[in-house]
Amino acid sequence: MDLKTIGEKFRITGDYHTHTVYSRVGPYFHGKGKIIENVAAAVSKGLAELAITDHGPTDFYGLDQKKTPQMRKEIAEAMEQYPGIKVYLGVEADIVDTPNGLDVAPEDFGRYDFVNAGYHYVPNCHMIRNWIAFRLPYPAAGREKLRRQNTERIIKALRSNNIRILTHPGDKAYIDEHAVGKACEETGTLIEINVRHRHPDLEDLRIYAGYDVKFIISSDAHKPSNVGRYVRSLELAMKAGITPDRIVNIVER
Ligand SMILES: [Zn+2]
Ligand SMILES: [Zn+2]
Repeated sequence: MDLKTIGEKFRITGDYHTHTVYSRVGPYFHGKGKIIENVAAAVSKGLAELAITDHGPTDFYGLDQKKTPQMRKEIAEAMEQYPGIKVYLGVEADIVDTPNGLDVAPEDFGRYDFVNAGYHYVPNCHMIRNWIAFRLPYPAAGREKLRRQNTERIIKALRSNNIRILTHPGDKAYIDEHAVGKACEETGTLIEINVRHRHPDLEDLRIYAGYDVKFIISSDAHKPSNVGRYVRSLELAMKAGITPDRIVNIVER
């Protein structure tokens, strides 16, 4: 099925992974849009639901968790202005070496409607080695060791927390897709097909398709105009043998 037909036949009901200006470092805004701008974009694309999920607090562009009340206030105002859409406050926590495996502690989960989690280059997570290994020639034994460590960390985070979406698994660092697929099956975690990142790719998705898991497509928009994008990811999923009924936020028009 070509992209145009896919877009005409299927639509995305909600986008549960988008960033705003709350993902920032000092004066640099990693997410470009305000909450209200992401909401307006979602409404213009006909979405019924949207989540604001800025980066976890240890990320270079991480949010300041003290600001979640302000984010809640902006979300409430946006929903007043656009009563047709339900907007959630989530977070894209970083998978790191902490007791619960995330940079959002269990006592902070209450700040959010749900928690997504993914691997990013943050200190305390073999940042430098993963960055180099993923991009440059690297000894095979070292790569395998990293793959094992990254996989263990993801599985620990999945088992220790109620994570809704595992964001872009396999992007930025090597993982064992079979072990991660099995852990998502065991914990009921949604596997994300990310519009913005290269992984999971076709090969990864073919592996995940073999497990009893559900998928979700996320735009991972860092600017409002990208909110609600899904067609390319849906095409990729279908190529991998994942039928749209296994993707929780895709329906036939
Ligand atoms: Zn991410
Ligand atoms: Zn993201």
